[in-house]
This record gives sequence, C-alpha cells and structure tokens, in this order.
Amino acid sequence: MREKRSEGFTVSRRTFLGLSAGAAAAATAAYVIKWPHFDLGGAAEATEGVITEEWVPTSCLNCPTRCAVKVRVVNGKAVRIIGSTESDYSGGKTCPRSHVGLQVLYNPERFTRGPLIRKAGSAKGGVVDLERDFESPPAHLLWPEAISQVAARLKKTAPEKVLIIEGLNSTSNSDLICQFARTCSIVNLFPEDALETGADRLGKKMADGRLNSGYDLENSNYILAFGASILESERPLARNLRMWGKIRRERPNQAKVVVIDPRYSVTAAKADEWIPVNPGAEGALAMAMAHVIVDEGLYDADFIENWTSGFDQYRALLLSDFSPEALADMTGVDTSVVRRLAREFAASKPAIAWSGIGATRWPHGGQASHAIFCLNALVGSIDAPGGVLYQESPPYQDMPPATGAEPGISFREAANLVLNGGVDVIIGVNSNLIMAVPQKADWDEALKREDLYYVHIGPAVNEMVAYADVVLPSATYLEEWAYETALPGSGYAEARIKQPVVGPLHSSRQVGWILFDLVKEIHGETPASFDITSGDAQTFAEEFVKYRTEPLIDWGEFKKKGVWVGQAYEYAKDNPAKYNEIFQTGSGKFEFRSDDLPDVLTVQFSGDASRYPLKLVTYSPVLDVKDGNQNYPWAQEIFLVMHGYGWDILVEINAETARDLGISDRDMVWVESEVGRIKARARVFEGMVPGVVAMAVGQGHYACGKWADDIGVNPNEIIALDYDSLSGQAAFHATRVKVYKA
Ligand code: SF4
Repeated sequence: MREKRSEGFTVSRRTFLGLSAGAAAAATAAYVIKWPHFDLGGAAEATEGVITEEWVPTSCLNCPTRCAVKVRVVNGKAVRIIGSTESDYSGGKTCPRSHVGLQVLYNPERFTRGPLIRKAGSAKGGVVDLERDFESPPAHLLWPEAISQVAARLKKTAPEKVLIIEGLNSTSNSDLICQFARTCSIVNLFPEDALETGADRLGKKMADGRLNSGYDLENSNYILAFGASILESERPLARNLRMWGKIRRERPNQAKVVVIDPRYSVTAAKADEWIPVNPGAEGALAMAMAHVIVDEGLYDADFIENWTSGFDQYRALLLSDFSPEALADMTGVDTSVVRRLAREFAASKPAIAWSGIGATRWPHGGQASHAIFCLNALVGSIDAPGGVLYQESPPYQDMPPATGAEPGISFREAANLVLNGGVDVIIGVNSNLIMAVPQKADWDEALKREDLYYVHIGPAVNEMVAYADVVLPSATYLEEWAYETALPGSGYAEARIKQPVVGPLHSSRQVGWILFDLVKEIHGETPASFDITSGDAQTFAEEFVKYRTEPLIDWGEFKKKGVWVGQAYEYAKDNPAKYNEIFQTGSGKFEFRSDDLPDVLTVQFSGDASRYPLKLVTYSPVLDVKDGNQNYPWAQEIFLVMHGYGWDILVEINAETARDLGISDRDMVWVESEVGRIKARARVFEGMVPGVVAMAVGQGHYACGKWADDIGVNPNEIIALDYDSLSGQAAFHATRVKVYKA
C-alpha cells in the first residue's frame, strides 16, 4: 500500500492546470489565423509568422462508443476535440472524456525509443523502469529485430499455447487482430470488453439469439434502469447523454426514468426515482415485476402469442415463486413499490427495461440479464420504437478467407490458461488487463513466470509493461487509420473514419502495420488472408480501411466527412414479418427460458458473512478512461463527478452503516476482504443501501506516470475471483468485505 499524495500537492497541481488551460486559451484566441491548406502527413514545423490550422474528421476511442469527432490541429499540434455534426448518432456531441484524447496523444509516458527488448536477468512485475529493464538500441535498427524475435517465438510455439488479449481497439484493428489469430490458428483471443458485457450479452442472446441489441432511448417514454448508469458508464455514452436531453427536456412529453441500484449514481440523481435494491437482487426484482404484469394481464398478448415461445412455463414459474411478497426480503423493495412500477412500466409504452453493467456482475449475471430482458418482451418492446432495437452493420467489403478456426474465449477460459500456466506466449494489444482483473495478486504471480513470453503492443507505459519481454510501441487512436462501427443505439448503421491528425509520433507504428509485418515474417510471405493491399507494410492500415469501406463511400468523401450513415431503421413492430429475421433462436421466436431463470434467486458471495459483513460493489465513473490508463490530468481533476472530488477514490458508505462502525465522513479506512485489504477515504452519505459499500475503479496505478501513480487504490485487488455461470465473465460484485478505521 502506497501513501496517498498530500492535499497540498493536489491543490497546487490544480492551480497549475487552471493557469495552464487559461494561458493556452488566451494564446489560441489571440494568434490563430485560418489557413486553407495543411499537409496532414507533415510533422508541421512551426514557421515563424505562419500559422496553419485544420479541423480533421476522425473518431474518439476513449470508450467503446467510438464517436465521430473533429480535431483542431494548429501548427501540427492537436489542440481541441469536438463532436462531428456529420454524425447524428450523438447529435454532434461528445462526453467529457473525449477531450482527454489530447492527453492520450501527448502523454509524457509515451514510448519514445521505438521497440524495447527486456534485458536478460531483469525481474518482471511491479514498477516499470524502462532504462533499468529494457535494451534501447536506435529505434530504426530495432523494429526489424523486434518483429523477427516475436515472429520466431510464435513460430516455435503451438497455437494453443498462445493467448491474445485485446484491450480497447478500433473496430478495424479488432478485425485485423481476429484475422491475425485466424491466420495463425490462434483460438485463444480474449477481448477485455467481455469483462463488462459478457454476462449481459449472453443473457439476452438466450432470448433472441442475437448479440447486437440496444435501446431506443430517443423514442422511449419510460425507462427502468437496472444497475444501468446511463449517464456515466453505459454505452453508447455520448448518445445516451444527448438522448437524455431530448427525452427529459426537449420533448413535450418527458420520459420517466427509474433507476434501480444499490448506489445513488449520477443517473439516479438525475432520474425521477431511485429504488435502492439489495445487491444481486436486480434479476429477482425484474421477475417480481414480471409476476405483476402477467398476473394482472398487463402484457402485450398479441406479441406474446405470435412471437414468443415458452410463455406458459414462464407464467407458471412467475406465478408460483416470484410474487413481490415472496421476494421482498431478498430485494429489499417494498411490495407496493414493485407493483406500482410494474403497472407503470406496462402502461407507459413505449418502455425499456435496461439491464446495466451493475445488474449483471454476478455468478448468475447472465440469468439476471435474461430476466430483465424478458420484461421488454412482455410489454411488446422488442424491435419497437422506444424499446429494444437491433443495430445494423455497415456492409463492409468482406475480408479474404483465413483457414483457422474462429477465435474467442471467455474470461474464465483466459483466467484458467494464465493462472494455471496453460500458455507460453501472450500478446497484449492495447491491454492493461492486470488492472482490470479480480484477485490481482494471483495474476501478478502468473505473469511473472520466467518462461512466459509477453509481447506488449501499446502507445504508453502501463502496468502490463512490467511483464513484457518485448514492447512494440503503437500509435494512439489520433495517429492511426481505422474505421469504427456504431454501437447498438440508433438502429441504423454508421461507420466512422479514423485518420491521423498528427504523427505517428515517437517512432510508433500503427497496429495494422505491426500485425502485417508479424504475419508476413511468420509465414515467410504475405498470406492470402492479408493479401488485399499493395503489400507495403507502412501503408497497410490506410489501404485496409479504404478496401473495407469501398462499398460504402468514396474514399475522398469519407476522409472529408468522416462518417457514412446507412438507411433509416425499420422496426419490426411496423413490419412484423421482420421478426422472422430478428429471432435467431431454435424456435425462431423470442424465448422465455424458464429453466435458467430460477438461478436469479441464488446470490453467492465470497467471504464469511460473520467476518465480512458488508458487500462491495464497484462502478466506473465517467472520467475512468477506458484505455486502462489514467495518466491524464483532465480526467483526474473531476474523477468523481458525483462527489465533486478528483485525484482519488472514496469508499461510499451508508450513514447508518458508518455510524454502527464508528466511521465519520472523510476518515481513512481499510476495506478488507478474504483476498486482501486497501486503504481509502470514507464518504458517508445516504446514497447507499445499508450494509453495502461502493468504490470506483480506474485508480490505484503504479506504472502509468506522475498523473496516475499512487493516486487512490484499485478495488479489483480485493475482489475474489468468481464467474458468471453462463458467460464466464468475472462476478465483480460478489465479494464480502469489512471496513474499519485506518
Ligand atoms: S462516449 Fe466514448 S467515444 Fe464518445 S466521446 Fe465519450 S469517450 Fe469518446
């Protein structure tokens, strides 16, 4: 446990930042002159008396929403990021995280010496010291050497002994990583995103056979948000923020929002009602509401009759075991409230039951997601305006076939491989997995294994670099060519470009270039699966984007507009024959799966309740940048928006619980589980269910740089390793803790 920085340091840094921002703004306002031409590829030497300026269309990647943005570039320096009005998806708006892109690009902890190769005998793990731990020959000599070393290692390793960990990457880089894995017969590909979405996606898939459903927030009249922090962390965030304004202020009829969560979140603060629920009981509460809707005949009989299967068994299950009264102790929600909300939900069409990240992080999180999703079917909200919709994809040009099996494994499978020594080579692409996993100490031991060869591909130092044998510095998202696909939310397809606004800086290379070089070196020539461009590695990423988007839009127009938008979305509710295409289940209909649903009654926690009487839930605040790094002062400054607090995290405790424990607001406390303990400052308030404590993720770094290291703690360190039974996602909320004064 490291000492937290002093209050004095925080204040002086804040003052400094404020002054810097003010000075920069003043300088910009005084001297920028519009200049019609700017060479994007140029490193833009600033010539005295000549000022160049351009707005470059590209897209953000500080979270998976991937919004279209424009970046203002003055004298070769990116200075401002705004939303692109070419994209109606978010109404030309962004979220507060978008601006942090400038600090991602100019992060002082970027790799500046080209590839790095670990010095023989240097120990892995802990704090990263590039000088101490890595060789540093001249960068131009090292790229071929590093690529050939990695390729040689991959060639002599059986594919089943290789694991690829994919952090947050552009859509096209994800496609290339998959193609690389197929081409090299590597099945073990784990996308870190599944740590947040795996249980929810598979829970819904049980019902509709699909993985691309989203919510039509824009047209909804009533939103039941189960563990969904729509304004902080639920994707597509910027669209949520924009649509929230529409449905709450701009429309004549204001949509009602009810947030069901153990914690009073930013979204709860902005909603009509906050319903505090016991942790892990969200799925059971959804079943209790379904009981009322079915029992009182409030469901959409036409939809149930024509487009669902298993309803009779589902009804029998609901009516036998799931009355609000039977579940009152478990949910902690008054039965009259459950009945009122169920009736409102059924009567206020179109309505959405939104299963959020917070509702599905359980050993039966997938089943909870399914239970919540079924509410949408009951009221006829499946593929209906203001309900659930199915996102269309841009018709990209097909990738050439690759012979290997389709890659992709669950978190449970990835954990078994790493923790039990089942892999010999790991390639991390923009990954900081060690900060995202529960029971971190076990992963640390496993990744330090001497005979484990880890290749880190990323733009800046982070905690995973401590395990790297080779570092291949990649470009940031503001320096690369890519395409991005809109997440579920609008229904209609949208593709966005990424094009370098500067650089790439510091001898870094785009991920596409690195993968192309690697695959070519491994196969001795360009394999057919990558043979779609001129064969020039340096231009491969750009040519790949051009190739894939060719059916959509003229290349020059795409670069200029930055966005391609598909046809207006057609709901099956308006054309019921479309339901035949939508449901990709065995029955061809929406399936109520009564065999799985009773699992929502079983909520297991790690830790003895007598020793660890409290339950820990975690959440991702809006300024938790999703690249796994936090070395960004703007993000730190307002990290905990809810509490007006930055540069730290808090342990949020209910006032009654805190009183029983003798803890006062702002006390330093230990939070201890059977896995370990961490120290943080208490925040005592009424916005927590008694007996539950909440902590934000995103802090606790020790190898990212001066704006991230030794600030706050990482609650994942004390979360016990457990999994959702359906998806293998980590069950982050199933850990008991005790809290006491430090
Ligand atoms: S929602 Fe995500 S992608 Fe969009 S601006 Fe915010 S951080 Fe960037």
